[in-house]
Amino acid sequence: MKQWSKEDKVAFLKSQPLADLHRHFDGSVRPETLWDLSKTYYSAVPGLGFEEFRAKLSYDAEKDKSLLDYLDKFHIPLQYTQFFDNIQTIAEEIAEDAYKEGIRLLELRINPTIHQRAGLSTRQVLTAVRKGLRACRKRHPDLRVGIIAIAMRNFGGNMAKILLREVIGEKENFHSDIGVVGFDIAGPERPFPPILFVEPFALARTMGLSRTVHAGEDEGPDKVWQAVELLAPERIGHGTSAAKDPKLVKRLADDGIAVEVCLTSNVQTGAIDKVSNHPLPVFLEAGVKICICTDNPTVSGISVIDEYLTAIDTFDLSEEDVRRLVRMAEEMSFVGMTR
Ligand SMILES: [Zn+2]
Repeated sequence: MKQWSKEDKVAFLKSQPLADLHRHFDGSVRPETLWDLSKTYYSAVPGLGFEEFRAKLSYDAEKDKSLLDYLDKFHIPLQYTQFFDNIQTIAEEIAEDAYKEGIRLLELRINPTIHQRAGLSTRQVLTAVRKGLRACRKRHPDLRVGIIAIAMRNFGGNMAKILLREVIGEKENFHSDIGVVGFDIAGPERPFPPILFVEPFALARTMGLSRTVHAGEDEGPDKVWQAVELLAPERIGHGTSAAKDPKLVKRLADDGIAVEVCLTSNVQTGAIDKVSNHPLPVFLEAGVKICICTDNPTVSGISVIDEYLTAIDTFDLSEEDVRRLVRMAEEMSFVGMTR
């Protein structure tokens, strides 16, 4: 790419209508908010300072090596995100932070089931998220947002179906503004293959929800094949290992199945050993649609701008390449697509 300073790149990126289609509620909470909540609930360790507390929320390259280490970072926020007001406040802050980064199209994903330990229902959790997102949108009408409901893989296929039945009333098209636009499975990939979720994905399709699947992050291309063939998703989350199988890459391109690319997260979970080994160029070369996403800004200590900068610097992307990626993200979005 032409020689331009980091400031120039950031200014260029900020001039673009950026999207983040893969951002988890639980991995995007402001550390300061959790710190305040930890004092409210008397759960802060006596003598623990803010920086030590913050460190527990973020990936540490020295100590954390695997997807399971990475997933461990979500336990602290969960103590506080069991209550309606906290969920609403946090959703509003996540949307506000995204807007400040330059994001104009945000799909925020959440598993409602893990936020019900204090008695909230699935619909109450999703209502709290909607209210928070709506409050942010009132300030920023040019921000488009949608919610993706996640089923945890480790809860199994039947729980995923139960969740879908609970979610139906929160679909985007049943509300005047913000609602659930998509369905996803997440959590430990290895012992819970896509085949367990055939029925939930068929139900999600019947319900008119768009579908994405976390796949090929901790497992080989065979599991991405399984997701593609059995679950018929419109997008794959990560899909990193898919590039090992040229036939699969061609299938993704032919079927228009898009890949949500999360560069920093992929290094931290061990999906790739370094960013330069990410198959982003392979996907683009083959005509697979991709979108640069953050996954978990708090856990990874990144913004979407950081992720674009990493992509630009690692793969020598041009301004036109970036514009193309931004357009692709727009095309891949589920917002406004519910039927
Ligand atoms: Zn994810």
